[in-house]
Amino acid sequence: MRRIVSFLIVTAILIALAWWIADLPGTVGASIGDIAVRLPTSWALVGFLVLLVVLYIVMRLIVMVVRLPSRTKRMRSARAQKAGSEAVTKTLLALAGGDSETARRQAQRSRSLLGDTPQTLLLAAYAGRQAGQLEEADTAFNLLAGRKDAAFLGYRGLLQGAIARSDWDAATTLARQAEEVNPGAPWLRAERARLATRAGNWKEALALSGAGDPRTVLGVAAADAEPDSAQALKLAKQAWQTNQAFTPAALSYARRLRERGKDKRALMEVLRVTWGLAPNPALAEFALAPITDPLMRASRVATLAAAAPQHGETYLMRARLAFEVGNLTDARAHAEAAQRAGLDQRRVWLLLADIGERSGDVVATSDALLHAASADLDPQWRCEACSTAHLEWHPVCSNCGALGQIGWGGAGTGSARLQIAAAGDPILP
Ligand SMILES: [Zn+2]
Repeated sequence: MRRIVSFLIVTAILIALAWWIADLPGTVGASIGDIAVRLPTSWALVGFLVLLVVLYIVMRLIVMVVRLPSRTKRMRSARAQKAGSEAVTKTLLALAGGDSETARRQAQRSRSLLGDTPQTLLLAAYAGRQAGQLEEADTAFNLLAGRKDAAFLGYRGLLQGAIARSDWDAATTLARQAEEVNPGAPWLRAERARLATRAGNWKEALALSGAGDPRTVLGVAAADAEPDSAQALKLAKQAWQTNQAFTPAALSYARRLRERGKDKRALMEVLRVTWGLAPNPALAEFALAPITDPLMRASRVATLAAAAPQHGETYLMRARLAFEVGNLTDARAHAEAAQRAGLDQRRVWLLLADIGERSGDVVATSDALLHAASADLDPQWRCEACSTAHLEWHPVCSNCGALGQIGWGGAGTGSARLQIAAAGDPILP
């Protein structure tokens, strides 16, 4: 309706204008040399308007001709963009489907259509890598690394390649370069931590570790590798404070306190606390190592025992001390208490056999030896990842390379729990 009204109004205005022009009085004259032209005013006005329209059309045609090359270029570019975009999509689809040759072909097509952009270079690199063309992939990653706007992508790809071929020196250099162009990237942090762990650079691994990493293990390893004794003490203390139930952390901290002449403090503030949380014979062995006086040894055992009086390890520690001083009655009583507390293990039966032998009880000795043969295996350091037994604790399993998986526990007995140092949950079921 509005259109009809507008049309009628415009038509009316034009008709009125035509009438007005037609009714204009007078004439318009012009002369060039001997030629003189004289027209009615209405004809002259119409002619002038027609001349303006013709001039406008001519100007438009001239502009169109001038702009034709750039317009053609834009159209070609738009077509290349569209085809390039399609090639990018096809590359992604081929990569996702594992069709690496198609991915390579389409990636090259996208590069020729769109040029070397971060997107096309990255696709070409991943297509090359998926096809096993590692040099081709590295060339594309190097081109990316040379660009200011995408250097991190290049270093990331090159770093992944170096890790895949176990070139740890190159990987470390690339990680440093990547850190320079994108400081603090979470992915890079994790990779750098992994590299530091592999290289045994425990201090850096600890500094780069996150919430899910075995910080206690890294802390103990860093303390053990630290040449500066004050730093080592600090690292060991931090590690123990992270998980006070972890024996290697307690031993590492206590050893450094002992080196500084603070053996009493090591016993009272570290070993006793850890014994109360997770008794381990290595703690008792460490506590008693420098002491030869029987009374002082008994005092130390009593200190530890008071922290976990009902624990099987405590009874066994008491039994060993009593056996050591020749108190065979107490030794037997404590060893049997250890068994009642759940330690039906070979080492307890062997101690009972020793007690029987020293007391001249042949029957008790042979009975204990018989039981020892079928008793639970003794607890030991064992990798939870590959079940390899280790004589000593290590941060990394020498068999499978797992970090922080070596814990203290029984082997297949079901009676002992594996003690693993992990943030937040020190003892796993
Ligand atoms: Zn292992």
